[in-house]
Amino acid sequence: MTSHNGQWRFATDTTPEGIRESILTHLRLSLARSPDTATPFDWWISTAMMCQDHIVDRFLAAYRTQKIEKVKRLYFLSLEYFLGRLLHQNLINLGIVEQTKKALIGLGLDIDQIFEEEPQIGLGNGGLGRLAACFLDSLSTLRYPAFGYGLHYEFGLFHQEIINGYQVERPDDWTRFGVPWEIIRPRLSQVIRLYGNIDWNGQKPVWVGGKDILGVPYDYLIPGYNSPVVNVLRLWRSKSTVEFDLEAFNRGGYFEAVAEKNFCESISKVLYPNDKTEIGRELRLIQQYFFVSCSLHDIVRRFLKEHSNFNDFPSKVVIHLNDTHPSIAVAELMRIFLDEHNLSWDQAWKLVSQSFAYTNHTLLPEALEKWSVPLFERVLPRHLLIIYEINKHLLDSIPIDIPERDKIIRQISIIEETYPKLVRMANLAICGSYSINGVSSLHSELLKKSLFHPFYLLFPQKFRNVTNGITPRLWLLASNPRLSNLITKAIGEDWPADLEKLKALKSFVLDPDFQEEYKLVKQANKIELANLLKSRYNFILDPEAIFDVQIKRIHEYKRQHLNLLQILSLYRRILDNPNLDIHPRVFLIAGKAAPGYDLAKCIIKAINAVSYKINNDPRANKKIRVYFIPNYGIWSACKIIPAADVSEQISTAGKEASGTGNMKLALNGALTVGTLDGANIEIREAVGEENIFIFGLKAEEIAQLAAAGYSSRKIYETDPEIKYLLDWLGSGEFTPLEPPSVLHPIVHSLIDGGDPFYVLADFHSYKETQSKVDQEYKDQETWVSKAILNTASLGWFSSDRSIKQYATTIWNLSPCLPK
Ligand SMILES: *Cc1c(COP(=O)(O)O)cnc(C)c1O
Repeated sequence: MTSHNGQWRFATDTTPEGIRESILTHLRLSLARSPDTATPFDWWISTAMMCQDHIVDRFLAAYRTQKIEKVKRLYFLSLEYFLGRLLHQNLINLGIVEQTKKALIGLGLDIDQIFEEEPQIGLGNGGLGRLAACFLDSLSTLRYPAFGYGLHYEFGLFHQEIINGYQVERPDDWTRFGVPWEIIRPRLSQVIRLYGNIDWNGQKPVWVGGKDILGVPYDYLIPGYNSPVVNVLRLWRSKSTVEFDLEAFNRGGYFEAVAEKNFCESISKVLYPNDKTEIGRELRLIQQYFFVSCSLHDIVRRFLKEHSNFNDFPSKVVIHLNDTHPSIAVAELMRIFLDEHNLSWDQAWKLVSQSFAYTNHTLLPEALEKWSVPLFERVLPRHLLIIYEINKHLLDSIPIDIPERDKIIRQISIIEETYPKLVRMANLAICGSYSINGVSSLHSELLKKSLFHPFYLLFPQKFRNVTNGITPRLWLLASNPRLSNLITKAIGEDWPADLEKLKALKSFVLDPDFQEEYKLVKQANKIELANLLKSRYNFILDPEAIFDVQIKRIHEYKRQHLNLLQILSLYRRILDNPNLDIHPRVFLIAGKAAPGYDLAKCIIKAINAVSYKINNDPRANKKIRVYFIPNYGIWSACKIIPAADVSEQISTAGKEASGTGNMKLALNGALTVGTLDGANIEIREAVGEENIFIFGLKAEEIAQLAAAGYSSRKIYETDPEIKYLLDWLGSGEFTPLEPPSVLHPIVHSLIDGGDPFYVLADFHSYKETQSKVDQEYKDQETWVSKAILNTASLGWFSSDRSIKQYATTIWNLSPCLPK
């Protein structure tokens, strides 16, 4: 392939022979190894380097065209990118999987085993970080010019081990053996400042003193599926700007000499392993500012290479805030325009407020960034002044005659008048952005009705919705080859780039041959998972049983404890009635808890305790089993999802902004058991009510119940089954070697803690729905047709659809390099 002027020619040969040569060359010249001493890991690196050569070639050609055409670009700011492994995905996107497979066979190697050698890139906690990774894939696939910006954490999300039923966290030293995907570009480093003071002596305030930090870019090239566009994910790593003080070191000042270096490097040291709960730590604020400041300077630098003034900034640059974490960008871009480029306030604000778009990812109040004013003032004194000024303009703009003006001012002010005062970063993001969106229709409605209601009254035109999506290249093509092949056989090979094509499967729903093949695919996937879990953990899964999965971060709002109570209830019924007629079921639960979230960790302990008891009870273990799969991540998701029959999406209505796990499972033919929450609502619309199991209170019913006064203690006292189950869980029977109090925090939270997530309120509805699932599974023909309908109806949930919607309704972005 050549570029538009014929000058760029892809040097890389995509025949199996060419690929084989390239792998051998990298083994020899990049790794200094010979084939007879190479380890599987050496082969993995050589294969990845071969793949990277192809990506680099495409990147150079595509980027050159973008520059010549001065295209508008998207800049996506996110504190998390949950990439997982890249080799398989990249080979798929380049269209060279089969050739590489052949090349490796020629070398006596199995491609799937080579894939397993790759260390995971876990720079994210869960759904938010994975969404960012899916979006990068879709952006390149759809040929939108984009840069992702983030932090190059030295330690990604912790590894979870389960010891004696408890979560134990181990550090994730993911770069230890080198990362062949990275291109380090020290020449493009940025220097940013922290701390210092304001000098008021001149005409305008000047930020003086403080501490400089160096940001070094680490680039990842992101190819698209069947696309010439390769975008860049640029991750910043912090370093000291000061040369190492050799003299001090030699004088004996060892610790002073290394302390400076350590402080600077600590900024990009660890990913905060928190999901949905905020921690008020200085380092977290510094992390946010560091990556935002580096990125904005990089954006401005690139813009000024192609333009001589800032007039065209909003028409060539759109900066997307992936959640509230990067919203300091609004103040930082103001500072860059005001202090570094001498624009007037009005000029600067006009550019800034036309360049940002903001996605909110959660309604949970504890997850909204708020910083105390004294902390903020110490770390970012100049930004605090700018925020005060932005706030003054914002509050002045509120019409004088609006009803309840004082109340509205209190609610939308960027400063919360508490002691100490707080800076509300979400308010800054809303005020500085021309577009604000939620991530499912329910979530976007709730934003307008509750959290951001006063802003909605003032700026209704800013509010939109873009429902999340998932990339089918990973969540079907790479992770479920059996189902992918079956689909391709039935409807052709175009679906991975146009997932709505799956609709064509609807004509096969009642076709007995197709049903049979679909069933065989699921069965083979279940056997494969059973074998994997047997060899890794000695778990015993009967592939004939229903595989019922709940895989996601452990959090009270996601209600793994509701699942657990239902399992306990089932166990009780089996003990009471040994002839209970149920189809055998295996409950698979996986997920990490934030290390500081004690109740979530207690839920993990409870699941493991109940699992041990049931799995070792011969009265029950032929009917039900429970397994907690350790260290949930992209890899385990890819193994579990293709084998799932039932998908648990049981969050308290109104709490799960969208969910994307629900989409992955439904796409792979698992039937959802879910509340009317997040994207479950839209999944129900897509697949039809008869093909999904909905239960529980709706968001407005939860709100009414809360307003009327919800008493979980009353339920406990008046509902014999619930009383029995909670007493049983707290009795110590499941933790015979430990004090009975081990599981009490869960029981207490559900009774005297007021059951903040309405577990008891939804219990019976959930239990009845689970019985319905059991009944319906017995009719295999109907079940399979429903599963096929789920796969056929999920095309809309491709992240390609989400990205197209962002590009056309929010970013005003055009694809480059047409076919
Ligand atoms: C998709 C995904 C999530 C998000 O799951 P939800 O069920 O939407 O919370 C979390 N972690 C990983 C590894 C994922 O792949």
